[in-house]
Amino acid sequence: MSHGRGGRADRGVLGRTAEEVQPSHDGRRLGQYRNILGIGAHPDDVDIGCGGSLAAARRAGAQIHSVSLSRCDDETALQHKKQREEEFFSASAILGAKAHVFGIPDRAFPENRKEIMFVLERLQEELRPDLVFFPSLDDPHQDHNTVAQAVVRTFRAKETLLQYEILRHGSNTFTPTLFVDITETLEMKLQALREYKTQIGTRAYFDDNSFRSLARTRGAQSGCEYAEGFMVQMMYL
Ligand SMILES: [Zn+2]
Repeated sequence: MSHGRGGRADRGVLGRTAEEVQPSHDGRRLGQYRNILGIGAHPDDVDIGCGGSLAAARRAGAQIHSVSLSRCDDETALQHKKQREEEFFSASAILGAKAHVFGIPDRAFPENRKEIMFVLERLQEELRPDLVFFPSLDDPHQDHNTVAQAVVRTFRAKETLLQYEILRHGSNTFTPTLFVDITETLEMKLQALREYKTQIGTRAYFDDNSFRSLARTRGAQSGCEYAEGFMVQMMYL
């Protein structure tokens, strides 16, 4: 179909200006989801990947749930065991999320695939989420990747499935196709991430500056100040 100069196509088929046909950006579309589940392998995954979006959804009236499949007992020095779990509960409370933690051994997710599927099936049955955030299928970290594969196999009840990015792992290949404006909730996300005191100072990427910069980059790509980017795995219109 061709669009001639001076014809109706110049003003759009309804004769409105581009500004008039812009969709609203007040979060109502995120607010259509009522029961949202963020799934992570480790305690900080969900907060890093979709903490701002979960908080925005909560503000829009949704129930939000944050899952850590591991307590990270194996990689954590003895004096910090329990602390990882407590950090997760504190961060979830800041976002307004109900926290669910499980005992899959960290860095051994591929060997525990069956148990992970079992946990995810239970979560699906009990929570009946309409939107699920989960790690990227391209994430090279074996725990993140195993969770991603298990989510895609488990959630087949027409949930919207969105892959989130974890700043460090696999972020060089992550190409977001869906964005959530988190300008209003970025500070809440950063505050939640500051609860992970065992990670701050021990991991080079774990600070306000890097989380804020990525959010600003995603914001610049999507026309707002701060955003989180996602890759759509499944969505129904
Ligand atoms: Zn992780």
